Amino acid sequence: MKRLVAWLLHIANRHPPYLHRTEFYELKDRILKRHGSIVAYDTQHIVNECWGYYDAGSCQGAACRKCGGSGVFQEKWVALERWHFGRYTFHRPWTVVYVKPALAASIEGRIQHGGDARDSMEAAMWLALLVDRPLFRALFFRHGRSLTPGPRPLLVLSAWIYELRSAVRAVCPRRCEQCLDMFLQKELTGGLCSVCFASRFTPPEFEDIPF
Ligand SMILES: [Zn+2]
Ligand SMILES: [Zn+2]
Repeated sequence: MKRLVAWLLHIANRHPPYLHRTEFYELKDRILKRHGSIVAYDTQHIVNECWGYYDAGSCQGAACRKCGGSGVFQEKWVALERWHFGRYTFHRPWTVVYVKPALAASIEGRIQHGGDARDSMEAAMWLALLVDRPLFRALFFRHGRSLTPGPRPLLVLSAWIYELRSAVRAVCPRRCEQCLDMFLQKELTGGLCSVCFASRFTPPEFEDIPF
């Protein structure tokens, strides 16, 4: 079980779920603190290039007022704990400084993890299914659909359930909370009641089903 969790965390960690990044990192923290161990510390040096002002489109070089001509918008050093869990190495940031520290950075630039983001999502779903049900529900019932499933069972299932829900939702009438008329989704004008223009509807009963 621990080996499976380590492997899933390793794959999921390459591309953490975009919309649930905070919850994912909280889960990663809990797993590492419980099963992993700190083996070293790293310092990561990150340079964010200047992109100029929004209206300028790009950095104006020597004339750029945002970076003063340096081309650098921000430079920072991130102190990281290096953890071992199973056969894998993980990093966990614990502080950020904006002044060059005495010790040379051991990691230059962002860590490129590679791999397919869909495999990471599939792994994140399995991991959450095993150890974090609220995160699983959030990933499975809301966001799996946004990724082309491919040979990934939970992404496939998640996409099917989304399609099913949309189909059922389209044929189930909902009631306007103001004038109490019933409408199908397609009869609403810009999401508003076409009789009284209210925006609140009592949803069809199947919405209570937890998916
Ligand atoms: Zn600039
Ligand atoms: Zn109405």
